[in-house]
Amino acid sequence: MKRIGILTSGGDSSGMNAAIRAIARSAISAGLEAYGINYGFAGLVAGNIRKLDSSEMDGVIDRGGTLLYSARFPEFAQEQTQLKGIAQLKKFGIDALVVIGGDGSYHGAERLTQHGFNSVGVPGTIDNDIPGTDFTIGFDTAVNVALDALDRVNDTATSHQRTFVVEVMGRGAGDIALWAGIAADADAIVIPEREYDIKEIAEKINRNYANGKQHGLIVLAEGVMSAADFKDKLDEFSNFETRAITLGHVQRGGRPTAKDRVLATRFGDYAIRLLLEGKGGLAIGIHDNQLVATDIIDTLENHKHQTDVSLYDLNERVRF
Ligand code: ATP
Repeated sequence: MKRIGILTSGGDSSGMNAAIRAIARSAISAGLEAYGINYGFAGLVAGNIRKLDSSEMDGVIDRGGTLLYSARFPEFAQEQTQLKGIAQLKKFGIDALVVIGGDGSYHGAERLTQHGFNSVGVPGTIDNDIPGTDFTIGFDTAVNVALDALDRVNDTATSHQRTFVVEVMGRGAGDIALWAGIAADADAIVIPEREYDIKEIAEKINRNYANGKQHGLIVLAEGVMSAADFKDKLDEFSNFETRAITLGHVQRGGRPTAKDRVLATRFGDYAIRLLLEGKGGLAIGIHDNQLVATDIIDTLENHKHQTDVSLYDLNERVRF
């Protein structure tokens, strides 16, 4: 193996640059050449590919977004398009590809592997919704961005004795809502993985007001419904003033936390070490703080991300 390619795809997440840096630097330090592919699978098919040198990786570890840019390219689900991508990789003499992205991007890497092109998936998404890993790159940063916003909301909510419904990202997963919600002392965390009863939530917040709490906070995962819709339903049962906020894309940007930078560096270096050992077709992850690599096809076809719902019960015990 002489040359490896790197691309980022799907929704960006803070820490992707740290992963690109680690993959490129570990490859170069092992005597390989690293090639960056711009704009995800769209750039792959278009041949938007360039050699990366080590100095380009200076000053990127602290930057959000992705220096290789990202793209949604649904055409890559078609076999003909995938084969065009492989032809480009061969044209540039690339022997293996590292794909940093979420669930959809992993499917792209899986398809390339099925066509015989060695591809490795590195989990990069704020949603933390990929099977084969406890944590994804960008999740910790997104949680901390959401938490910062929730702390600010709590301040103004207290001043006016209001209740806020704050919608956080996560696609179909409640991980961001759980982590940010517990840390922000939310009265209720509403996630797709658990049943909820809006009347009970309203009664709980009423009780908390009666016991002297000066505000209410509901952290709502986007996979359940919008904050505006949730507020409308809550209003039917409540006699307190409620406001709805959607945090949106701020959760995807900004300086990655130390945890995301270190995780991305560990993942990126591990991907290269596995490729150097002649392994491939893998999904990189972390389980119980140990780096793990699982077969990418089996991981995607037979496993699902498991949200740690014990955190939901934890919040119910400490914020009743
Ligand atoms: P996030 O969930 O953080 O937004 P993601 O990687 O899941 O990230 P998607 O838009 O689902 O984002 O997928 C990114 C890209 O991966 C798609 O635009 C497409 O190019 C490719 N892709 C998605 N699904 C498939 C598939 N089934 N087969 C081949 N390629 C796919």
